[in-house]
Amino acid sequence: MTDYDHDFYNPAPEPARAVIRAVPYPAELNPRGITITCTGCGARRDWLLLADHDQIFVRCRCAHEWREPDLTRADFDRHYVEPEHEWDDFDTAMRALAFDGLLAGTTWNLD
Ligand SMILES: [Zn+2]
Repeated sequence: MTDYDHDFYNPAPEPARAVIRAVPYPAELNPRGITITCTGCGARRDWLLLADHDQIFVRCRCAHEWREPDLTRADFDRHYVEPEHEWDDFDTAMRALAFDGLLAGTTWNLD
């Protein structure tokens, strides 16, 4: 007779790899007609949008980051095309994208 105990054996799940998608957004954001402003440094543009499941976060060049409930997953997906890079951890990603605070106050004229 088979040992059915094994049917109840659930191996520990693989450690879930945190998948946070990020997309730079150089322009101003005004999802409700009010331009989003960084409370850390007063910047009004040049954001990094982060999507963690259905929550959207905005990150500033000064490394200030907050959840922006006015932005939806659909907003994010409109700007997100496809993954360009993959990083092992969040800090590395932020450094690579120059959103780790080093460039706080820096703005580029992209026009
Ligand atoms: Zn800022």
